[in-house]
Amino acid sequence: IMEIIVQKFGGSSVANTDKLFNVCKHITKEKNKGNSVVVVVSAQGDTTDDLIKEENEITEKPNKREHDVLVSVGEQITIAKLAMCLQKQGYEAVSMLGWQVPIITDSNFGDANITKIKTGKILKELKTGKIVIIAGFQGIDSNSNITTLGRGGSDTTAIALASALKAKKCEIFTDVDGVYSEDPNKNENATKFDKLTYDKMLEMANNGAKVLHNKCVKLAKEKQVKIIVKSTFLEESVGTVVEK
Ligand code: ASP
Ligand code: MG
Repeated sequence: IMEIIVQKFGGSSVANTDKLFNVCKHITKEKNKGNSVVVVVSAQGDTTDDLIKEENEITEKPNKREHDVLVSVGEQITIAKLAMCLQKQGYEAVSMLGWQVPIITDSNFGDANITKIKTGKILKELKTGKIVIIAGFQGIDSNSNITTLGRGGSDTTAIALASALKAKKCEIFTDVDGVYSEDPNKNENATKFDKLTYDKMLEMANNGAKVLHNKCVKLAKEKQVKIIVKSTFLEESVGTVVEK
């Protein structure tokens, strides 16, 4: 029986080619243990912000459908590059956009909610031994329109996939080694939590802890998905476990 693990890497973790190769280490470590690995990635660095700036050069009031077509582009670049990095290292990998999975959402452009994920194609690829790399933040509505899930939405993609695939865990890689009481870059007395309940994490997300998107914590609580927040840049990061 395959144990499925979902790993999510945010924009700062995949910001350039060196960082993409760094991410490969975390992925292949789980793959080498015999796990089936599904990876969710964000757009590289400031790509999404840059796309929005370029959009604003055209209009401050973009058509909502076209806004989502534009801002979803960054993740397509990341999935292709990451698949190539893994292939270069001798691993079989395949990229998928939201519509290719498909990740089905409502039609609330810019802040869509996932209504269903069809897991057949992912499971088929995993069975052949491939690492599956999925674009975060995007889906497709019932009229084949591309949708996006709201800024920071790749976390939500990862949790929704972990739930749909009945994954053992969902690892969220970021630039800090877990969830802290305060921003550890600003306050040296900030303490790290080893373990948090969904409710405590939600309380902190509402109070501005930027580590996890609040929508994603709610979804994790509802679906009882175990989240592990850990550092992309440390070899051995224990991180923070968020569960009930
Ligand atoms: N790239 C999107 C954003 O910057 C989604 C994400 O990073 O999770 O909001
Ligand atoms: Mg981003």
